[in-house]
Amino acid sequence: MLIKLELNNIDELTDEETAGVENLFLSCAEGTHVAIADRNTLKALLNFTHLSSRALGSIRNMLSKFSFIANLEKEISFYVQISSDTADPEFTEDLWKLPLSWFSDSQLCTRTILLAENLNDAFFYAFSSPVLSRHADLLKELTVNYELVNGGGDTTADVLAHVADEKRFTICVTDSDQYSPGASEKRTARRCRAVIRACRWPCDLAVINARTVENLIPPAMVRASTNSPHAHRAANDVEYLLANDLLPVARFSDLKSGLHLSKIFSYTDQNAIADWKLLGERLVGHGQLDERCIEQWSCQHDRHNCDQNCCRIVAGYGVRTLSNLVAWLKAEPSAGIVPLLEVPTESPLRTVADRVVELCLAMKIQRV
Ligand SMILES: [Zn+2]
Ligand SMILES: [Zn+2]
Repeated sequence: MLIKLELNNIDELTDEETAGVENLFLSCAEGTHVAIADRNTLKALLNFTHLSSRALGSIRNMLSKFSFIANLEKEISFYVQISSDTADPEFTEDLWKLPLSWFSDSQLCTRTILLAENLNDAFFYAFSSPVLSRHADLLKELTVNYELVNGGGDTTADVLAHVADEKRFTICVTDSDQYSPGASEKRTARRCRAVIRACRWPCDLAVINARTVENLIPPAMVRASTNSPHAHRAANDVEYLLANDLLPVARFSDLKSGLHLSKIFSYTDQNAIADWKLLGERLVGHGQLDERCIEQWSCQHDRHNCDQNCCRIVAGYGVRTLSNLVAWLKAEPSAGIVPLLEVPTESPLRTVADRVVELCLAMKIQRV
C-alpha cells in the first residue's frame, strides 16, 4: 500500500504517534508497504533519536530516491493518508485518511491481504497482476507484497468483513458469476460490495467483468498447462469466440462445465435471456446453433434436448483446470509462462492487475 504521512508539528508527536512513524518506516525496510512524506518531513525525521536505525535507514533510502517517490501519488489511484491531525478516519472513494496513533500497533503495518474465493484464484491474480498492470514500470523500482487469503467461496464476504475488522489492508477479487454481460451479479459479489460500502477501513474490491476467473485465463495458457483433450477442445472453442468477435460469449459462458443451448433455455434472469437471444442469433450466423431453436427459444429437435454437441456454445475446461494451471505455474520457470499471459488491452484481468498492484505496492526489502 502507498501510505502518505502528513505530520504537522513534528516536534509535538505523542509517543504513540512516534511509534506509528517507526512502524511505518520499518514496514518499508521490510518490504511490506511504501510510506512517503514530503522532503522536509523526511529530513526532520532523521533527527528523531527515538527511531531505530533500521527505520532511519529506510527514511534515508526514501530521501535518496525522493523524486521517484514523490511522483507515486500521481500514478496511483488508491492510497492511504496517515495524519497526526486526524482523530477519526475520513474517506472518499479513492482516498483514506487515518490517525497516525493507530499505527503504534504494528499489526496494522503487516502485508496487504489478497483475498479471493479460493487460494487458486488468489494465486492466479497474484501471478498475473505484476505482469499485466499498467504500473509495470514502477515495479522496476518497487515490488508487490501480499498475503494470500482463501475466502472459501460463498464465505468470501464474511472473510472480507473479518479482515477489515482486524484492520488489515485488503484487496478482494471475486467472480461476478453473471450469466451474461447484462445479468445481475450473484450473491458472493453482491455481499462483498455490501461489506465494502459499510467498511470503515481501507479495503478495495474488484469484481471481475466476467463470469469466473476461468473466463479470463488465456486459452493458450490452459493448453500449455494440461494434456486433457477436454480442456484443449474448450481452449479451441474459446479461441474461436475471441477471434470471431464473440467476446461476451467467451466472458460469460460457464467455462468449467461448458455451455449448451439447453442450459440457456433454463435461465430465469430476464437480462440474461435478452442478452443470450442476441448472442444466440450471432452464433447461428457462425453455424454454431440451430436457428429454429433460437427463434422458438426451446429445443426443436426430435431426439435430444439441445444438450448435444450440435447445440454446444462452448466446451468446458473441466472443474480442475485452475488448480492444474496453478500447479503448473508454480512448477514452470516464469520466463516461459509470461508470454502466454498476453491478453487484450481491455481485458478485465488488467483492471484487476492495477488494483492488486496498487494495494500491494511495497518497497524492495532493505538488508540491515
Ligand atoms: Zn435440441
Ligand atoms: Zn438445438
